[in-house]
Amino acid sequence: MIRLKPGDRVDCRVKSNNIIVSYGEYDVTRTFEVVHVDDEGCYVFIPCFIYINGGITLDAAKARRMGVDPRFVGEKISYIAESSICKVSYVLDGMKCIKCQDFFIMAEPNTPEGEFWCRSCRANPYR
Ligand SMILES: [Zn+2]
Repeated sequence: MIRLKPGDRVDCRVKSNNIIVSYGEYDVTRTFEVVHVDDEGCYVFIPCFIYINGGITLDAAKARRMGVDPRFVGEKISYIAESSICKVSYVLDGMKCIKCQDFFIMAEPNTPEGEFWCRSCRANPYR
């Protein structure tokens, strides 16, 4: 899997309202926001103004289980395989704190393990 993370944007080719493999014949290229990544692909957010076949509506329980940002609850998300990613169009710069899971723009690894630990969590480990 390309090293993606939530918040990144990927370009996918769409044909007849289906996201298709990146080398196929297509109608249009759309940019989608990544909400969750696993080993074979990722879930992308499908905004209501783009009609795509399939996909699921994200409920609160699933969002929690998958660690997806709660702002996507009630929204439509769709799973795409790595082969459907035409290109990564935008990489969100920054890191998630290993403790509180908040995302910090422009954050860089600051632990020996290459992870990021935010200032608030450092100041108050019981946060
Ligand atoms: Zn933190």
